[in-house]
Amino acid sequence: MSLSEELFDVVVIGGGAVGENAADRASRTGLSVAVVESELVGGECSYWACMPSKVLLRAGAVRALARDTPGLRDPGAPDVAAVFARRDEITSNWDDAGQVSWVEGAGLTLVRGHGRLAGERLVEVTVPPVAAVGSGSGADGSDGVAEGGADSGLGEADTGEEPVTRLLRARHAVIVATGSVPVLPNTPGLAEAAPWSSREATAADAVPESLVVIGGGVVGVEMANAYTDLGAQVTLLARGGLLSNAEPFAGEMVEEALRKLGVDVRTGTEAASVERPGTTLEDSAPGPVTVTLADGEKITAAEILVATGRVPRTADLGVERVGLSESALGRGGALVVDDSLQVTGVPGGWLYACGDVTGRAPTTHHGKYQARIVGDVVAARYGTEAGDRSPTRGDPEPAVGQEGKPWSRYAATADETARVQVVFTQPQVSWVGPTEHEARSAGIPVETVSYDLSWVSGASVETPGYTGRAQVLVDTQRRVLVGATFVGPDAGEMLHAATIAVVGEVPLDRLWHAVPAYPTVSEVWLRFLESYGL
Ligand SMILES: Cc1cc2nc3c(=O)[nH]c(=O)nc-3n(C[C@H](O)[C@H](O)[C@H](O)COP(=O)(O)OP(=O)(O)OC[C@H]3O[C@@H](n4cnc5c(N)ncnc54)[C@H](O)[C@@H]3O)c2cc1C
Repeated sequence: MSLSEELFDVVVIGGGAVGENAADRASRTGLSVAVVESELVGGECSYWACMPSKVLLRAGAVRALARDTPGLRDPGAPDVAAVFARRDEITSNWDDAGQVSWVEGAGLTLVRGHGRLAGERLVEVTVPPVAAVGSGSGADGSDGVAEGGADSGLGEADTGEEPVTRLLRARHAVIVATGSVPVLPNTPGLAEAAPWSSREATAADAVPESLVVIGGGVVGVEMANAYTDLGAQVTLLARGGLLSNAEPFAGEMVEEALRKLGVDVRTGTEAASVERPGTTLEDSAPGPVTVTLADGEKITAAEILVATGRVPRTADLGVERVGLSESALGRGGALVVDDSLQVTGVPGGWLYACGDVTGRAPTTHHGKYQARIVGDVVAARYGTEAGDRSPTRGDPEPAVGQEGKPWSRYAATADETARVQVVFTQPQVSWVGPTEHEARSAGIPVETVSYDLSWVSGASVETPGYTGRAQVLVDTQRRVLVGATFVGPDAGEMLHAATIAVVGEVPLDRLWHAVPAYPTVSEVWLRFLESYGL
């Protein structure tokens, strides 16, 4: 049977935070836009990542602050039920009705189902039987964990009805924003042990007595911190050191703090095999799990969480049907894009991508930045002036920044030169731009200026035991900052001043006139400049 096509100006595949933003932005010059979503509108960030994970960390962080503040009493261990209740509230109980009404209010058309590229400007959507997806279907662990990179699909309920296929024709462009899936290493016995991924860790409704976390990246350290706060005995296994993408001192400070909190941190090791006798994937209450380390040591725990990274979600996207072979894809199967977010290697220039699926800078903030850019590119390229409801104020000539990259509304320059990351452990870690090692490898002549944050007056007012450190990277040729790292309480809130200095390429002699208020921790900015010789 030949299907009739539904016509839109733009089709967005993936209705996570990034897809929603790209769709909204693209529609601002009067274009009609469809958003295809296979699970919950709002994506990973809203229901199983940023939001719930930060709520799980919040009570412990406030407790630590109270404990360290003279005049306050230790409020004691967090009330776990209340923490989970707040988590349920912030995830809207895994019900996307609120986000659906936002999408509809923005004039976008939501199409529920799994989208695949079916040809030039053509998207085929498999619409599951009504009960299979949508509001309330979230916390079931159906997250398509990639074992060796394969996407296991939707986790649809079997209603006995046949799925329906719809064909969406894009007059102008298709934007892919399908996100990423966690990687499950091929460690013997690991898959059979039915480990937690970040989804189960953020959606759990009980705290296991003990937990082994595999992976020392952002998700691993945050969840190790959160579950220790909530009362679990946590062992953290990391192949190298912790937070290997950050400056080494940041990972070391987090490691020390986690140990102090009671986490058994094992660096330079990995799980050689995993055993969970008698477990089947369907077990609702599996027994204890035993992890054998590379040196033969065995660690037994009630639960195991795998946090060893994520890969772009392109496995069941039909990329081969638009001429993209495996070799045309980037690391982990990423859609390779240029700075205007156009997918390279697809003739006709109609395919775009943004967010985790590009592998460029897998965070919500960079994904949404890319979404604004790709949305503006599409709106400007194909929109009509008559339909313009854009609040933006024109397009000045783009300035050209470091390494000749344009700072324009139509180029995702910051992904490369000013990438931003925050880790919400205690202490927090935040950084912008390259690490010292990355800068030197890129041939940037940098000098580091480091400062112990406990030496500034604002820190001693905050708490007598304040521990923190900050470092900036100065491009000695151009006398501007190219990067900065902060470690300390609320270090995430200190970052944006540095981001503005890096993106604005503010000369140090001008920064001298940005007077930090006394007594704030931001006085470290003055100390940086004095230490550099101003
Ligand atoms: C535990 C954890 C904590 C995190 N914390 C933070 C944080 O604090 N701050 C931060 O910035 N980042 C954080 N991240 C990263 C952040 O979650 C991602 O960068 C972000 O969700 C990426 O957004 P996205 O829209 O690209 O992808 P997603 O959020 O994954 O959305 C993609 C959407 O596309 C849908 N989809 C996929 N394939 C198809 C298809 N074929 N057809 C139709 N729909 C499809 C999916 O169902 C999903 O809704 C965290 C990640 C994890 C795992």
